[in-house]
Amino acid sequence: MDTVALQSRRIVSGMRPTGKLHLGHYHGVLKNWIKLQHEFDCFFFVADWHALTTHYEDSHVIEESVWEMVIDWIAAGIEPSAVSLFLQSKVPEHAELHLLLSMITPLSWLERVPTYKDQQEKLKEKDLSTYGFLGYPLLQSADILIYRAGQVPVGEDQVVHVELTREVARRFNHIYGREKDFEQKAEAAIKKMGKKNAKLYNLLRKSYQEQGDTEALETARALLKSQQNLALGDTERLFGYLEGGGKVILPEPKALLTPAPKMPGLDGQKMSKSYGNTISLREPEQSLTEKIKKMPTDTNRVRRTDPGDPDRCPVWQLHEVYATEDQKQWVQQGCRSAGIGCLDCKGPLIDAIAAELRPIRQRAEELSSHPEDIRRIIEDGNEAAREVAQDTLGEVRAAMGLSYK
Ligand code: SF4
Repeated sequence: MDTVALQSRRIVSGMRPTGKLHLGHYHGVLKNWIKLQHEFDCFFFVADWHALTTHYEDSHVIEESVWEMVIDWIAAGIEPSAVSLFLQSKVPEHAELHLLLSMITPLSWLERVPTYKDQQEKLKEKDLSTYGFLGYPLLQSADILIYRAGQVPVGEDQVVHVELTREVARRFNHIYGREKDFEQKAEAAIKKMGKKNAKLYNLLRKSYQEQGDTEALETARALLKSQQNLALGDTERLFGYLEGGGKVILPEPKALLTPAPKMPGLDGQKMSKSYGNTISLREPEQSLTEKIKKMPTDTNRVRRTDPGDPDRCPVWQLHEVYATEDQKQWVQQGCRSAGIGCLDCKGPLIDAIAAELRPIRQRAEELSSHPEDIRRIIEDGNEAAREVAQDTLGEVRAAMGLSYK
């Protein structure tokens, strides 16, 4: 596969190491990563610098969580041979690109990111009026752009971060993509495509630039992607030339919208460490059973003989994730007619979650007894990630006039 096609198949995603992973992480993110790992060129990383933006005062949590999180990922089904797994802080190119991008990013772009104010409100106990916290969406942009990823798997609430990344990339390309002899280089690159393709490219470019024909633009992009003979620099020039801009040094990534089911916690609110309502990925069976047995139910169902309403019960929300259609019917009928008690109702739920967690826990135990294997996997991933990141940074430095010796 040529470089441009490979980039558009590349996705980047990270997770902050701020404590034990729980079922919310598994259903909200990990299951999706597991699905994507064979479809895309995946770069998954431990976002330890991101964890510092909110946990700078208790950074020991980060150190404790880094390796455990990687163990959880692999235990849950991430295959190290299929993806690049790495530590953000071991690829310092993320930090350099973040710094360079910070020079061209207007402050207002960061201040208007909705999560900036939201998180400050939600995490009132922490002082988040810091430079690092304001800049974390830009660090995310650097995380993505340093790999020139084509797509970023996100839920609806994160789309705004991908939008910011696109704006920053566009601004960077606009400012630094104009080489002195850009047009001559672009024209020379067109010739390298061969007579027939060059003619087609010129026609499509004209059609887009003169008549705004977006179909022509898409066809021309596809044509460029299919060119095996062009060097990456030439392809980037021609992408920019097509739209009347300069060289595309940092391609704009697209949001890959992923289904992120809201995983209910033990109290019916979203499962989250801050609500204390989690079931960890390595929850022992006995503690799992106790937690489910203690779950609150429909408060109107005081006695066993009182009929209940599943819609008012957090247990039902978990059944919606785990139960088969037959079991759901059994719960609905049994609850509303007082045919079953709440402990009966919780039984199949305990069994289903236990069955889901058992292989993960067992595999995590095995992996924990070979910490050197986990270190090696991450070292290999760091190396693979650095190779790509250094390439991008080399081009970025050159474009900004910083590659003097
Ligand atoms: S029977 Fe099940 S759904 Fe109904 S109140 Fe009890 S736990 Fe909730």
